[in-house]
Order: sequence, then C-alpha cells, then structure tokens
Amino acid sequence: MEERQELEFGEIWKLKIPLKTAVFTWRLIRDRLPTKTNLRRRKIEVDDMLCPFCRNKEEGADHLFFNCSKTLPLWWESMSWVNLTTALPQNPRDHFLQHGTELAEGVKSKRWKCWWTALTWTIWQHRNKVVFQNATFHGSKLMDDALLLLWSWTRAMDKDFTLHFNQWSSNLKEGFCN
Ligand SMILES: [Zn+2]
Repeated sequence: MEERQELEFGEIWKLKIPLKTAVFTWRLIRDRLPTKTNLRRRKIEVDDMLCPFCRNKEEGADHLFFNCSKTLPLWWESMSWVNLTTALPQNPRDHFLQHGTELAEGVKSKRWKCWWTALTWTIWQHRNKVVFQNATFHGSKLMDDALLLLWSWTRAMDKDFTLHFNQWSSNLKEGFCN
C-alpha cells in the first residue's frame, strides 16, 4: 500500500472516537469484518449469503456498507449536508480515503472521518440486529442513531462543544464546515 494511504489510515487512531470504534474501522478498511462473504472465505458454512438489508446481492463489505440500495442513500444524505455530489467509491478503503481527503473546501476532515466511522459502525450494529434478532431495516432510524453517536462522541471529547443534540442536528452543514 502507498505510504500516503498508510498515513491516512494511521489517522484512525488519532480520531476522537472510542477505541472499539477505531478497531472496528480498521477492520472494515482491511475487510476483516465477519461479513457473510468473509465467513465463507474462511470456510465457515453460511446458509444464506444475501445482504440482510436488500436481500438482493451477496453480503460483502463493499455491498453492505457502500453499495446497497438501502445504505447508499444514507451516504447521499450525508453528502448533501456539505453540498458534495461526487461519485462514491465502492470499496471500504477508497471510500474512507475519499471521505478524508477529497472534500469540499471548508469541510472539517477529522469531523467528517468521525462521521464515517459513526455511520459505518451504526450500519454494522443495525445489520447485526437484522441478522440475529430479526429486526427490520429503518434508514431514518439508522441515520438518527449514527447522528446521536457522533454528537455524543463530540460532546464527550471536545470540551468546547456545548450544543444540544437538536440544535446541532438541525444545522449539520454548520456542524461539519465550521
Ligand atoms: Zn443490500
């Protein structure tokens, strides 16, 4: 892997996020999460290979997080907060790098990376609920959970951040650009 990319990934450990989330992000970027595709690769028998959200494609990380008809709109929505319209890469590594480095001017790249981890983490939690507890997919609920998570991290780790959740989430453009 290129040196520049290694540096970018090293930044995961400097983000103001809980350690378990940083570890999760690291595993996602390296494609080491126990997705159905990865389980089968490890010779573990999986009866149902389909994505639990759309039931239409195989559940690899590329699909589940970044290319599924259920999760892709969540990225589009996030991009709309900062007026981004660029095409999104499909694999976790490129997706993360794009989120980190090729942003519109004024967008705080660290906060945006934290958002990336909050959203992917929440997608994975939702996925586990659907797979193991028979829950159904709710895009807007997922988005709310991810936003609340990002807000709570920011609140816990940045002592100058005093906005209430409702204030902050009603003006996300401001939240990511200033
Ligand atoms: Zn899907």
